Amino acid sequence: MKNLILIAAPGAGKGTLSNDLTDKYNYAHISTGDLLREAASKGDELGNMIHEMQTKGELVPDEIVASALKNRLQEEDCNNGYILDGYPRTVKQAETYEEILKELNKDLGVVIVLDIEKEQLIKRITGRRLCHGCDAIYNIYDPKLTPKHEGICDKCGGELYQRSDDNLESLESRYNTYLEKTQPLIDYYSKKNCLYRVDSSLGKEHTLEQVEDLLNKLGDNVD
Ligand code: ADP
Repeated sequence: MKNLILIAAPGAGKGTLSNDLTDKYNYAHISTGDLLREAASKGDELGNMIHEMQTKGELVPDEIVASALKNRLQEEDCNNGYILDGYPRTVKQAETYEEILKELNKDLGVVIVLDIEKEQLIKRITGRRLCHGCDAIYNIYDPKLTPKHEGICDKCGGELYQRSDDNLESLESRYNTYLEKTQPLIDYYSKKNCLYRVDSSLGKEHTLEQVEDLLNKLGDNVD
């Protein structure tokens, strides 16, 4: 399967789409946000710095993210195709990523942009709840995504929690960073002819369908 890069504003549904794709197909899911949260949870000096930056919605320094990513890409499950969720976030990171790909002899694959209006992001971010046990994603404002029992995961019974950066203040900062630093990637990858756009405003099933159609058209035959 082709490697996928997902580009979208915070809350657009990169994580949900990644979970849906990995549930159905044999992709590895690499979220740099998750890799960094894992590093932050160590509670050492570096971890505390990462936690503070993530809570404020600031980008973590490039070298730290690149090194975590490079390690993760060398794990065996990445050989079948992987979904990159949250990286690259700047043109500089895109350039670094190409160097990493060259070193590891891997392909860039397909870049997918999830389109959504800013107004929808507020509910998606402030209503988002995640499972400690299996990383499932819920939303208390979306009837289709509300857990059956408050605070408990439908899939594994794990406890649900809210991310420390899922609040309005941090969303504003993350959204502005997206506009300023990440959106230029759309032009960058368009010029390389590997960019495709998907509407992610109509819910997760609709988003997944569009991506499956796209991958089938590109010859990945994910059905
Ligand atoms: P979202 O896309 O909803 O903002 P993520 O889990 O992808 O959530 O990222 C959360 C935070 O992790 C970001 O606000 C940033 O602090 C950090 N982060 C994730 N990916 C990167 C990256 N590629 N470069 C720098 N910082 C990153």
